[in-house]
Amino acid sequence: MTFEQLDLISPILKALQEEGYTSPTPIQEQSIPIVLKGKDLLGCAQTGTGKTAAFSIPILQKLYKSEKNRGIKALVLTPTRELAIQIEESFTAYGRYTGLRHTVIFGGVPQKPQTDALKKGVDVLIATPGRLLDLINQGFISLKTLEFFVLDEADRMLDMGFIHDIKRILPMLPKKRQTLFFSATMPPEIEKLASSILFQPEKVEV
Ligand code: AMP
Repeated sequence: MTFEQLDLISPILKALQEEGYTSPTPIQEQSIPIVLKGKDLLGCAQTGTGKTAAFSIPILQKLYKSEKNRGIKALVLTPTRELAIQIEESFTAYGRYTGLRHTVIFGGVPQKPQTDALKKGVDVLIATPGRLLDLINQGFISLKTLEFFVLDEADRMLDMGFIHDIKRILPMLPKKRQTLFFSATMPPEIEKLASSILFQPEKVEV
């Protein structure tokens, strides 16, 4: 299987080639077509499997092809600052020829540089839950224009006590959206959370 066979557009194929990626990993091979056709996804995969590209590549492609409206179109929620930074690096790498804008926000650092970046306008926002809620509550972020919601490392989110933050964020998301949910493990609590936020998801396990 090649990236060309996944029907990716040339700005993304070019970026992947420059990254030195020759073929998709199993999670990418399975997830990319599901996301491109607009379905919700339940992905059981750990870090290291290539799951970041599995969600960021099809989101970039769909946003590239869609109308260029203002407002945040995709939100990726992840539990830690390190993961948030890695995910933003992936959007930078795979999206460098798409012209799409993204930024990352997380706690423990001054918020001014983050709010300055948000004011310039972003298509994709990568965030940890606490800082996201802070900036929403201060009026710096609206999620009304959201089309894609990614919940990354859901099991770690729960282990780190982020469930209350997530439950506060969920009602702020538009009902009509595409949701991608990733977790390394699927204990009953995670299954329950997944079924409450996904609509007829396709399941991928690696
Ligand atoms: P992730 O599981 O998303 O954290 O990705 C793990 C590592 O695999 C990252 O360093 C990626 O740059 C790399 N990677 C992701 N997809 C591919 C691919 N198709 N070919 C080669 N490396 C990849």
